[in-house]
Amino acid sequence: MTKPENPRGVELSSKQMKEGDVIVNKWDPRVKYAWATGEAISRFLEEMKNGKLIARKCDSCDRILFPPRMFCEECFKPTTEWVYIKDTGKIETYSISYLDKDARRITDPIFVGVVSIDGASEKMGIMHYFDETTKEDIHIGMPVKAVWKPPEEREGAITDIKYFRPLKEGEE
Ligand SMILES: [Zn+2]
Repeated sequence: MTKPENPRGVELSSKQMKEGDVIVNKWDPRVKYAWATGEAISRFLEEMKNGKLIARKCDSCDRILFPPRMFCEECFKPTTEWVYIKDTGKIETYSISYLDKDARRITDPIFVGVVSIDGASEKMGIMHYFDETTKEDIHIGMPVKAVWKPPEEREGAITDIKYFRPLKEGEE
């Protein structure tokens, strides 16, 4: 038996594809996905629609988990109770980004980062946008509050909160 010259085969160039050197078959797939978000995140997203943030309590280690989950990752016990928490929090970490969400360059930066929510246990952060602030003012530990979309525009998504803005003096 003779050994093939290149056992791994030959790469095809896009030129060969375009010019019909090889058989090409084109079609537009109709791709649709659906998946279950699970018990904890389903309720979390339902409550987002109502403009509320909900967490789960773990009785075993006495922590409030947010985003909610049915099992505690710390002590591996099932969580026990639903708890509403506030829509205020503190900036845990942030980035000043000169790229928008589609990675296009922008002149006015956007602020993205992690916010830990008041009422949840420490370091229970979610990623979100920060706005109504400047790159000079934004800082770690800055108290912030959620800015919600109007109720009729909410769809049960994390983007039902448009962004977090600085908490005003005397505001809760
Ligand atoms: Zn626990």
